[in-house]
Amino acid sequence: MKIKFCGAAQTVTGSQHLLEVNGKKILIDCGMFQGKREESFQMNRRFLFEPKEIDCVILSHSHIDHSGNLPTLSLKGYEGSVYCTPATRDLCSIMLQDSAYIQEKDVEFVNKKRAKKGEPPFNPLYRIEDARKIIAQFKSIPYRIPFSPDKTGSNVTVTFFDAGHVLGSSQVVLEIREGNKNFKIGFSGDLGRKNLPILKDPEFMGDVDYLIFESTYGARLHERADKIEEKLTEVILEADRNNSKIIVPSFSIGRTQEIVYEITKLVSRGVIPQIPIYVDSPLTVNATEIFKLHSECFDTETSNLISAGVDVFGMENVKYIKDVQDSMKLNDMRGPCMIISASGMCEAGRILHHLRNNIENPNNIILVVGFMAEHTLGRRIVEAKDIPGTKVKIFGEEHIVRAKVRIINAFSGHADRDEMLEYLSQMDKKRVKKMFLVHGEPEQQVQFKKTLEENGFKNVYIPKRGDVFEL
Ligand SMILES: [Zn+2]
Repeated sequence: MKIKFCGAAQTVTGSQHLLEVNGKKILIDCGMFQGKREESFQMNRRFLFEPKEIDCVILSHSHIDHSGNLPTLSLKGYEGSVYCTPATRDLCSIMLQDSAYIQEKDVEFVNKKRAKKGEPPFNPLYRIEDARKIIAQFKSIPYRIPFSPDKTGSNVTVTFFDAGHVLGSSQVVLEIREGNKNFKIGFSGDLGRKNLPILKDPEFMGDVDYLIFESTYGARLHERADKIEEKLTEVILEADRNNSKIIVPSFSIGRTQEIVYEITKLVSRGVIPQIPIYVDSPLTVNATEIFKLHSECFDTETSNLISAGVDVFGMENVKYIKDVQDSMKLNDMRGPCMIISASGMCEAGRILHHLRNNIENPNNIILVVGFMAEHTLGRRIVEAKDIPGTKVKIFGEEHIVRAKVRIINAFSGHADRDEMLEYLSQMDKKRVKKMFLVHGEPEQQVQFKKTLEENGFKNVYIPKRGDVFEL
C-alpha cells in the first residue's frame, strides 16, 4: 500500500492524494491549485498520475481547492465514479459549472492579450460541458454509511464522517484489507469547528492506523465561533446609528448563508433592528437553495429555529439579487443596510462595483468576515484599516479607503491549533503509525508538527508534492 501526495502538500490549495492498494488506484480529492496565474495554469494541467488509470475518486467536500480540478480529470479520460455526500454533490453541481465559466472568461481575457502580440490562443482549463460530464459521474453516500467503491472490490470500505466545515463536508475513513492485514486510514479533509452557525460540530472519525490531517491553522488561534453574535451585533448597531451601508465581501457558499442566519437569529430575538440585507450574487442565490435541501447537515439550534417557523435563510428584510439591473439599483440605496456580495477576497465579481461606490464614504463600513490572501484587494483593504489615506485600485482607478474597516475573525471554517488538538485528543495515539500533515503553509506545519510531537504523536511527516510513502 502506497500513498502519493499530489497536491495541498506544503500549501493550502490543490488537494489531491493518491492511494494505491491491491493494485487499485484511489484518488482522494481532486482540487484546483489557486495561485499566480502562470503557475496554476501549468499545475492544473499536469497531474502526477495518469487520469485513465484511476479506479475511483473520493471527494471530501465541495470547495474548489478540493473539487475544482475534477472536470480536468474527466477531460483527460477519467470515466469512473466520484463518491461524496449528497450535499457535496449538489453544491459541486453549481460550483463546478461556475468554475468552468470563470475558466472560460479568464482565458478569453488572456487570449485577447495574446492575439495583440500575434500569439496563438490558449484553451481554457476546462469548459462547462466538462464540468457537466463529471457531475454525471458523482455518486452520493450519506454520513456514517460504509460502502465499497466501484472497482475496488470488498477490500476497501469507505465511510464519511461530518467534518463541520461547510455544508456536506466530510472526513474520510478507508478500511483496507491487504492480504491478511487490515488497516484504517483517516483523512480529515478540512476540519471545521464547534459552534459554527448552521452546521453540526465535527464528529470524531474513530481510531486509525494512518492519518492524513489538515494543518491550515496549525500555529494560529481564532476568535471563538461563539463571538460571532457579539461582533455582528456591534457592527449592525453602529450602522443603524449612523445610517451606514455595510459592504460585506463574502464567498457564495457557506459564509454568506452563515451571516444571513446569524442576523436572522439576532433580529428574531430582538437584539438588533431589522435593517435591509441584500445578497447580491447569482451563485449565492443558487447555493442557498441547496442549503435549504440539506437539513441533515443542520445543528440542533438551526433545526429548532426552523421548527419554530423562522426562515433561517432570510426573513422579509433579506433580498436575494440575481439580475444585474437590480444589482445596479443598490448604488442609490440609502443606509442603514447591508450588501453581501462575492468574491470573498474582492478579486472579481459584483463586490468590486459596491466597493468602488462606497469605499470613499467615511460613513460606510466594510465588514471583513473571511481570510484575505496576500496580493488580493481584500488584503489591501484590511491593511488600510489603521493607515488613513491609504489608496487601493479598483477597476484600475485609485480610491482612498475612507470607509471604516471592521473585521470579524470568528467565522473561520477551519479548526485552529487548539481545536485540532482537542479533536486529536480523542485519538489513540499509539495506534497511529504515521501521520501526514497536508493543506498548510510550511510555517504553520512545522510548528504544528512540533506541537503534535509534544502531545504524544510520533512519525509526523510534512510531505512535499510528489512524495510517495509506503504504508
Ligand atoms: Zn474547505
